[in-house]
Amino acid sequence: MDLTQKIISLCKRRGFIFPCSEIYEGLGGVYDFGPLGVELKNNLKKTWWEEMIKNHDDIVGLDAAILMNPQVWKASGHLSAGFADELMECKDCRKRFKFDELNGDKCPECGGKLGKPRKFNLMMKTYVGPVEDEATVTYLRPETCQGIYINFLNVMSSMRLKIPFGMVQIGKAFRNEINPKNFVFRTREFEQMEMEWFCHPKEANKYFDYWKEERLKWYQKLGMRKENLRAKEISKEERAHYAKRQIDIEYHFPFGWGEIEGVHNRGDWDLKNHSKYSGKDLSYTEEDGSKYYPYIIETSVGVERALFAFLFEAYQEIKGGRTTTTESAKEVEVLLKLPKSLAPIKIAVLPLVKNKPEIVKKAKEVYQLLKPYFVCQYDEVGSIGRRYRRVDEVGVVASITCDFQTLEDNTITIRERDSMKQIRVEISKLQEVIQKILKGKNFLELGKLVK
Ligand code: ATP
Repeated sequence: MDLTQKIISLCKRRGFIFPCSEIYEGLGGVYDFGPLGVELKNNLKKTWWEEMIKNHDDIVGLDAAILMNPQVWKASGHLSAGFADELMECKDCRKRFKFDELNGDKCPECGGKLGKPRKFNLMMKTYVGPVEDEATVTYLRPETCQGIYINFLNVMSSMRLKIPFGMVQIGKAFRNEINPKNFVFRTREFEQMEMEWFCHPKEANKYFDYWKEERLKWYQKLGMRKENLRAKEISKEERAHYAKRQIDIEYHFPFGWGEIEGVHNRGDWDLKNHSKYSGKDLSYTEEDGSKYYPYIIETSVGVERALFAFLFEAYQEIKGGRTTTTESAKEVEVLLKLPKSLAPIKIAVLPLVKNKPEIVKKAKEVYQLLKPYFVCQYDEVGSIGRRYRRVDEVGVVASITCDFQTLEDNTITIRERDSMKQIRVEISKLQEVIQKILKGKNFLELGKLVK
């Protein structure tokens, strides 16, 4: 099994990601996030949101609607040829392929003859209200940023903001991709985390460079290795029509380098066009009376693509077993070394044995004690070695074991995922110690080392 298949299988087996509508044979290019997947996704979104709002000045949040007045998509250019892929259909097997992904003029599946390239718009259509006709057509947004542009005036005036400032938003986007592929890398329904920075045209280059560096640093702060990350400058010919400059932040997936985030200098294209189509003046007036359309620097992350990259980055196989139990010595053990802030489950509570009611009772009490503060899991099934392996496989940051000594002195052991070292700590100090572990404090200084 190759690495991608291993990750897909882990995602399904351990409740991260499932194919959508699986009992009905699925729906192409759409996925559901399971109990661990939703925690991981929420952690990723929270980490990004806090990075943008807490670590930078003059950035505010927004949650605009998925459905918008269809005029938005005329002004943005999405209804014209600009947001269309060219596809070719095989005359024999009827399969469709993206024109720019084909090598040669034969069907890659059956070798049949391909028809002429046709434009195919990626917008998902729907109707607003009971009548389905041209007047009620609208679209599911294919990107979240337009909701930000059309709220430029509302946000600026209600928050009394001055240029430069930024707006951030996280939400669903939909694209009717011709060829969804590579699991959650290219899907038809996905989430974006976007930041739009409004600035004076003369400062756009400076801010573009600033945000590019900030975004690269963010991935590295979360442990992504430098060699798996690159910023690719996109040539004028390949850039989106509105972009004055564009870099793609790419991750080195096993299936090749792939874009996880785009950083764009969109110039004044968006505000100018929305002014033109809406008839509302979206220009900005400085205190000295000078007027201009702000330039926009955009950073746009695909949540699922970034999450997928973090899974690859975290996945490790340890041959011969990393736990000390003999039963594991022959097996390959999986360690999902996710950053602590992203790990879906922070703490596992494990009674050493299941058949000693006092120990089980104590472990359940500890679980109840921690549950309001951390995402916890209680597990009493199987040997302790097997349980350690189960928690390592999904990246649980630390495991707490209640044993015979717990009954005597109210202490438990904490085992750290990465070092597998164990310390003994009083139950009364547990909450504080876990908080320190999650903040990355030196584990061995937090309790008495268990030899
Ligand atoms: P691609 O060239 O791969 O289709 P794009 O250049 O069209 O992507 P953008 O429009 O810049 O992508 O969107 C910003 C981000 O949204 C991308 O970097 C990616 O992470 C994410 N994204 C775009 N399309 C998809 C998709 N179909 N599935 C999952 N994520 C996507």
